[in-house]
Amino acid sequence: ILAGKTALVTGSTSGIGLAIATAFAKAGANVVLNGFGEPAAIEATRAELAASTGVTVTHSGADMTKPDEIAAMVAEAEAAFGAVDVLVNNAGIQHVAPIDEFPIDKWNAILAINLSSAFHTMRAALPGMKRKGWGRVINTASAHALVASPYKAAYVAAKHGIAGLTKTAALEVATAGITVNAICPGYVWTPLVGKQIPDTMKARGMTEQEVKEKVLLAAQPTREFVKVDEVAALALFLCRAEAANITGALLPIDGGWTAQ
Ligand code: NAD
Repeated sequence: ILAGKTALVTGSTSGIGLAIATAFAKAGANVVLNGFGEPAAIEATRAELAASTGVTVTHSGADMTKPDEIAAMVAEAEAAFGAVDVLVNNAGIQHVAPIDEFPIDKWNAILAINLSSAFHTMRAALPGMKRKGWGRVINTASAHALVASPYKAAYVAAKHGIAGLTKTAALEVATAGITVNAICPGYVWTPLVGKQIPDTMKARGMTEQEVKEKVLLAAQPTREFVKVDEVAALALFLCRAEAANITGALLPIDGGWTAQ
């Protein structure tokens, strides 16, 4: 599906982003990974993905809170591969606390990484897509782009923001051969979910098992975590020619959560 194309996936050293990058590499795209982690572990991931798929895989350590690093990351990808054909805005963090105790630096970081970084990447990458007359922007939003939960003020605000940004960008490039969509996963079993369990235990006074059953999977009628490979398959579908008329859409993949 993506032979000869280049995909840049932010926040792809782990979790959903790594699954999307892997699916795209298997579909023939050269891949620019991005995200934090142990340098040796990132290099091992990069080398393994390149070796198992035969595509070129690079890694950018650009910090999604820094607009100049984001612009440089896109420019480097375009210089190395000639284009960024597929852009996935996936980097994200979470913090769980009541609004009146919510640390200001966490609010600022979540808005920067989960929302503003997608503005900065699109601002840099859309001109190249317009020149080629083809492009795909896929934003990893969340069920929290559609509905709220308590104690996640910054995350819910950022994800609702990315829903609006997705729709606006889709309208702006609708006649340019570029689609812009948001995938809205429910709870997917990744490090991001694992790490918020202790804070949720504290905020709600619950045990770990209670958080999993009464907070996380309680929202999801299937009572199952979504799998990263299922999210990656949806992202890959959006790259197909048959998906050319899916744009400005917020696509839930949430086990029925937002149907309630
Ligand atoms: P994860 O923690 O496994 O991965 C997050 C990635 O973002 C990592 O690669 C990390 O290094 C990177 N990252 C964090 N801060 C960064 C920064 N400043 N600059 C560059 N990269 C940075 O989490 P995940 O669950 O795979 O989440 C990926 C996306 O999916 C996020 O946007 C998240 O909000 C969204 N999402 C996750 C779930 C879920 O249940 N896991 C549900 C809905 C939406």
